[in-house]
Amino acid sequence: SWRDGPPVSLFPDEIDLVDSRDVAVALRGLTKSFDGRAVLAGLSLRVERGEFLAIVGPSGSGKTTLLRIVAGFERPDEGSVEIGGRDVTLDPPERRRVNTVFQSYALFPHMNVLENVAYGPRMQGLSRRGRHARARDMLALVRLEGVAGQRPHELSGGMQQRVALARALANEPEVLLLDEPLGALDRKLRDEMQRELRRVQAELGATFLYITHDQEEAFGMADRLAVMRDGRFVQVGTPSEVYDDPADAWVALFVGSGN
Ligand code: ADP
Repeated sequence: SWRDGPPVSLFPDEIDLVDSRDVAVALRGLTKSFDGRAVLAGLSLRVERGEFLAIVGPSGSGKTTLLRIVAGFERPDEGSVEIGGRDVTLDPPERRRVNTVFQSYALFPHMNVLENVAYGPRMQGLSRRGRHARARDMLALVRLEGVAGQRPHELSGGMQQRVALARALANEPEVLLLDEPLGALDRKLRDEMQRELRRVQAELGATFLYITHDQEEAFGMADRLAVMRDGRFVQVGTPSEVYDDPADAWVALFVGSGN
């Protein structure tokens, strides 16, 4: 009978065939509705360890909702979230090995830069000296050793965002979620931070799940893009695959529109 056969995969990719040790995030069949309206309409995605994956799509397509579900701020109606090979669908945010960097830096104004970076739920098991040592490593990574003793308000916007990045990475997340992290920066600073983010990601071999509405940014930075429309992925592929071989006319137009 069908019960004896292999499990039927409901999902279009080969998600269950790869070695799960190489998978940082596996999303399967996610759905989410608000007020009876489907915001996520059945999403599956695999993000590999060390991969920089950008999610692009028009405003309202569900990008932030997806990231909030991965972070644990929101529960899916259906489907599952695996992080580092562990099913975390029902786990609260603090029990997931993820960190989020937002457009607003949310640094603690009363703490200096080093203390900001050293502050984190997963660093509480370390001694103060251990936390500070790790924080210094992270500040070196983002090239801010020189301002460890300063308060956030003494720094430029770009520097504050690098502190936020260092703080998020200091927790050694399995995956870093970035929601329009450069959205508040001006063009020049944005270009500089794009290079900086990419360098840090590559140096650490970190896994980045990155939301942006800036397609130039996504195409320039990401290993792969997931193009989202109305709560679905219409195409997942490398920048050149998406650019040269768009899945349909909508993707072609979206990619060509620049924003
Ligand atoms: P994007 O990040 O692509 O702009 P969002 O995930 O922010 O998309 O939003 C997708 C849709 O879901 C929007 O129409 C938004 O209004 C709606 N939405 C998101 N969060 C909530 C919520 N908590 N309650 C009701 N509607 C929501």
